[in-house]
Amino acid sequence: MDFELSQDEKLFKESVHEFLSNELAPRWISMDAQRSIPTELINRMGEQGLFAIPVPEEYGGQGGTFLLAALAVEEVAYNDPAVATAVFTLLNNAWPYILYLYGNEEVKQEVLPLVGKGRGFFGIASTEPSGGSDVAGESTVAVKEGLIYKITGEKTYISGVRESMEQLELGGWYLIARTAPPEAGHRGLTGFAFIGNRKGERPPNFEYSILHTIGRHAISTGTLRLNGTPIEQKYLVGQENRGFYIAMEGFSLARVLVSAANIGAAQWALEAAIDYARQRRLFGGRPIASFQGVSFPIAEVASRLQAARLLVYKAAQIADKIYIKKETGLRPHDLDFWASAAKIEAVEIAFKAAEVAMKTYGAFAFTEEANVFRNLLGVLSYLVGAEGTQNIMRYIVARELIGRDYVKG
Ligand SMILES: Cc1cc2nc3c(=O)[nH]c(=O)nc-3n(C[C@H](O)[C@H](O)[C@H](O)COP(=O)(O)OP(=O)(O)OC[C@H]3O[C@@H](n4cnc5c(N)ncnc54)[C@H](O)[C@@H]3O)c2cc1C
Repeated sequence: MDFELSQDEKLFKESVHEFLSNELAPRWISMDAQRSIPTELINRMGEQGLFAIPVPEEYGGQGGTFLLAALAVEEVAYNDPAVATAVFTLLNNAWPYILYLYGNEEVKQEVLPLVGKGRGFFGIASTEPSGGSDVAGESTVAVKEGLIYKITGEKTYISGVRESMEQLELGGWYLIARTAPPEAGHRGLTGFAFIGNRKGERPPNFEYSILHTIGRHAISTGTLRLNGTPIEQKYLVGQENRGFYIAMEGFSLARVLVSAANIGAAQWALEAAIDYARQRRLFGGRPIASFQGVSFPIAEVASRLQAARLLVYKAAQIADKIYIKKETGLRPHDLDFWASAAKIEAVEIAFKAAEVAMKTYGAFAFTEEANVFRNLLGVLSYLVGAEGTQNIMRYIVARELIGRDYVKG
């Protein structure tokens, strides 16, 4: 059993860290305040090879692994602990891979090279106003008319809407719609590569809007409204009525990277707490770190963070065994337990680390000047939802452990 990263992985992480400490760390606060990731930064991150990392080079990806993607996302979140840039990066690694696995050749060549270069975005559009956890109950419909599907429905709390629609050359999502009657449940859902913007050109009968979120402001969260919006048949991702299964694969891969983002954000909060605990002096000039009430919560976060990081790397390695090394005897479904367990731990330690940083700062934490609130609100997005709630993660872990016949959603 080897708990170490390989030399190449360490070098990759260090080079990403160096790039981001110059390009991202100095501006994450202004990005959060101004509610935007500059297009030029997205382009530069693409040039640096931070998107479509596991996608093969012949499709414009980096020909890397999910572990490398996780290391990149961890570093992005460490350098933007409000996690906005990390969300953009993780989505732009997981969902392009799903398009690579199941998309039509022509569509892959249209979308993936632009994603890889930092000039395109490909995320996930699953959640509907009626609720995100019950994917099988979704009501957006796709009606086939010749070689076209007409899609009607609303997707909400969707990440990357402004970036896709207004900033980049191309923006789209893996969008799930119903192609069989509701009685078919999860067996009646189909996945589409819905491209909302190609060089400023938008599909007809389609509108979008941006929501007023409370944190991780630099990446937008929005709503997509389709009203008979036409999509050509070639944009089908996988076979008709297989969309639920493909979505579940994508969610597991994305959860590995969500977990990596939370690890990076937690590391930032931990270091912020340590720095402040050393500097702040009270009771006759003693650093507050000398009080166990301050140092013990920091120690607890540090210990739990190490454990969570190992779990996240393990989940990424399992993704690599399944998808990159294609080890025999493993199926996509084998990732579900690890991805969900990693998300439970990583999100909870990130929120705990943010809380400990806030408490260590005391009243200063409650000012905009301290900026730790931006980290707290960013990681909060993953405590309340985004790529599946913590309860849904527990459901998956329980189902995998105890069995589908016993554990029902
Ligand atoms: C900032 C942000 C960005 C997001 N980006 C995207 C995106 O890009 N694409 C996308 O498709 N979605 C996105 N989402 C939506 C996200 O995936 C949903 O929040 C998530 O799927 C949960 O859906 P919901 O919020 O509608 O909660 P609901 O499904 O309404 O659930 C409400 C509560 O009930 C609990 N619950 C529901 N069912 C069960 C059950 N069976 N057992 C136990 N508890 C249960 C949930 O855990 C939750 O606590 C985003 C969300 C946020 C906050």
